[in-house]
Amino acid sequence: MKFMEDRILKDGQVRPGNILKVDSFLNHQLDVKLLNEVGKAFYERFKDKGVTKILTVEASGIAIACMTANYFGTPVVFAKKSKSRNLDGDLYTSVVHSFTYGIDNTVTLSKKFLGADDKVLIVDDFLANGKAVNGLLDICRQAGAEVVGIGIAIEKGFQRGGDDLRERGYDLLSLAVVDEMSDTRIVFRKEA
Ligand code: 5GP
Repeated sequence: MKFMEDRILKDGQVRPGNILKVDSFLNHQLDVKLLNEVGKAFYERFKDKGVTKILTVEASGIAIACMTANYFGTPVVFAKKSKSRNLDGDLYTSVVHSFTYGIDNTVTLSKKFLGADDKVLIVDDFLANGKAVNGLLDICRQAGAEVVGIGIAIEKGFQRGGDDLRERGYDLLSLAVVDEMSDTRIVFRKEA
């Protein structure tokens, strides 16, 4: 979508290791008006899907999830990266490899907050190799919840995560798909 592409071109910085830095508006300092547009775009696309929960992973997904949930009128639930003890088997857990930090995180979600009656919209700031989203899909599978859509602010289309999810039949909306990036130029996928 044009508003996200324009903002990336204006304020995004390409860093070594295929990292797009967008911390002036998306995941450190937050431009709430822009995040509101993200929430509205996800709502417009998924409003007829019967969404009951917005699911993300801490930390950068939470702001987007909250703005989105404001439109849907549903709760947000986020997978936690901090170590929680799985007392009495009361947690869903999944192992997620972090693209930005290069480590494995065990993410957890309380069984109280996701179940077989839920229709879930997964959202996150970035989609790269798809590890974070696949961890959330794994948690939904454990819960017996139905994933009705996936909303991503920025997909890096030169990594496999997004195309893999599309091939598996998920309804994925990425507001901007970066197909190429270097110090001097950023190229977006046409249909995004
Ligand atoms: P994936 O799990 O799809 O490989 O990577 C997605 C996660 O890694 C996101 O939750 C995001 O926090 C982080 N990430 C991946 N690529 C980038 C990037 O280029 N820039 C930033 N800021 N975060 C990224």
